[in-house]
Amino acid sequence: MKWTQLDHIAQRRTKSQLAFKHAEQLIPGGVNSPARAFGAVGGTPIFFAAASGAHLTDIDGNVYLDYIGSWGPMILGHRHPRVVAAITAALECGTSYGAPTEAESVLAELIIGAVPSIEKVRMVSSGTEAAMSAVRLARGFTGRDKIVKFAGNYHGHVDSLLVAAGSSAATLGVPNSPGITAGTAQDTIVLEYNETEQLEALFKEKGSTIAALLMEPVVGTMGLVVPEDEFLQAARRLTQAHGALLVFDEVMTGFRLSYGGAQQILKVTPDLTTLGKIVGGGLPLGAYGGRADVMNYVLPVGKVFQAGTLSGNPLAVAAGTATLLELRDHPPYEQLERRGGLLEQGFRAAASRAGVPVWIARKGSMMTMFFQKQSPSTHTPSGTDQTIVPVRGWKTASQSDTDRYARFFWGMIDRACYMPCSQYESLFFSMAHSDSDIQATIKAAEDVLTGMA
Ligand SMILES: *Cc1c(COP(=O)(O)O)cnc(C)c1O
Repeated sequence: MKWTQLDHIAQRRTKSQLAFKHAEQLIPGGVNSPARAFGAVGGTPIFFAAASGAHLTDIDGNVYLDYIGSWGPMILGHRHPRVVAAITAALECGTSYGAPTEAESVLAELIIGAVPSIEKVRMVSSGTEAAMSAVRLARGFTGRDKIVKFAGNYHGHVDSLLVAAGSSAATLGVPNSPGITAGTAQDTIVLEYNETEQLEALFKEKGSTIAALLMEPVVGTMGLVVPEDEFLQAARRLTQAHGALLVFDEVMTGFRLSYGGAQQILKVTPDLTTLGKIVGGGLPLGAYGGRADVMNYVLPVGKVFQAGTLSGNPLAVAAGTATLLELRDHPPYEQLERRGGLLEQGFRAAASRAGVPVWIARKGSMMTMFFQKQSPSTHTPSGTDQTIVPVRGWKTASQSDTDRYARFFWGMIDRACYMPCSQYESLFFSMAHSDSDIQATIKAAEDVLTGMA
């Protein structure tokens, strides 16, 4: 694939380009969230009109296989009949009451039944709100100020957590956003993911001041990065020993890696967990929950303030409940794992045959192919004997060849596969992606990678 091909790709998307020009006049950057802006891959964003199952249709009428699934929520595929029926039924009754409904308890019971560490849960409207609330609660519960997070982990756009915060922030090259005061940032300590010694040293020195260690148990927001066992065990052991709370951000991994989230397969029990994305079934809903003694610090039982006009919104609760029921009744996880395996093997073989050095990380239906910079000293005609550097954290992830990723992205778009528009995002696929969809995607990747070498 040559860059000049971008022109012919663009020709098929003239309506999207016009829509973007219009949106730019009205909305900063033409988008309501920077992850959609195509800043990291060049070109302009594609505007969508509809979706069904594994497919997206843009406003020019092009149809794509969807590998972002709204950045995670659409594990059942788009417009799953059970979800559509549930939203429709809720809509018939009313869209918001600002008062309790029985449906909220049904969803709460499902969440508590699914996620091993959650004894009580509070619903909010986004993953950001869940993280913000969990951090406030951890501080209120422990009476301490410091929060520990890891470089490249994204927990939503919470002021105190927008420090070295993965994907959007990394993509735009603004790890620290203007508008966040030094006072706010000073209580956040950032360490490197998978570096157990750093964690041990920090807790030894400052353990008694730390309210919480907040982490993605499997990282999706700097591209996919899997935790090493020793590191995870240390996170649990050290927080416990020093009276800090361990908070898992499972906004992306919850109900995605298994019905009980990453914590179920990793067999580590956090004190608090944040949820979002799948829990809302494609509508705006987040949640945070955990130990009952900690959750009982939240108002009105406890003193830690947290509220929301649309929290537990009936439509969102209906979509989330239907999604969870479907996942509980017909667990897709074995099939997702098998298809993920096919996709991984296919991409690996294609990259290797094309001599394009990559590090591929995958868990179930989440995967990232990190393009490695070709080092001149080890470059050979085939390129295949270059030493591949494992991606263990932000230090190694940020070494990726993002220009190559951009070429891959546009090559895949040209072949009707909508991949994440950044090297530093995980791809997702759904139950609606068939074996032949996966095979078609592998074929597309083979073409693109071969053209790249
Ligand atoms: C998406 C995401 C968030 C933020 O959720 P929003 O609903 O976008 O506010 C937080 N943490 C992780 C791990 C996420 O993937």
